Amino acid sequence: MPLPFPQHFLQDVTCITPELLRACGVKGLLLDIDGTLMQTRDSMPAPRVLDWMDSLRREGFLLYILSNNKHQDRVKAFADSQGIGWQYLARKPRQKGFARAFRETGLAPRELAVVGDQIFTDMWGARRAGCRAILVESTDTYLWYFPFRRLAELPFRREKP
Ligand SMILES: [Mg+2]
Repeated sequence: MPLPFPQHFLQDVTCITPELLRACGVKGLLLDIDGTLMQTRDSMPAPRVLDWMDSLRREGFLLYILSNNKHQDRVKAFADSQGIGWQYLARKPRQKGFARAFRETGLAPRELAVVGDQIFTDMWGARRAGCRAILVESTDTYLWYFPFRRLAELPFRREKP
């Protein structure tokens, strides 16, 4: 069983550049929403995040929403606004949602990078699936359990090839 270390640990999704992705052979991103693209209490990302998504798509990268969020309306509304594929209730790190994402994107695991803010869902799922694992600092800072989650994640919050 692979350990849930990210291969890349970046401040923010906008630090993910076409150059970085191309250097790893990545052609598409499986994007977490909550804490990654926007705060869980928001309904749309910041304009600079939307610009980042647009610029990656212009560069030919495929974007796909892989969210554990249980609110279908929230996930669908955002994905539809961007015209991209999506899954809610993906149950990362479990692999079923990943397998469906591979089918729907038509890309192989090694051609996809998972972008997320959590070690035990996003990074662990990515590693198990054989995707590139890109961790970003969470945009969420306000929920009571975050300090506890951070403590549990601490041993894995560093890059490992
Ligand atoms: Mg998240």
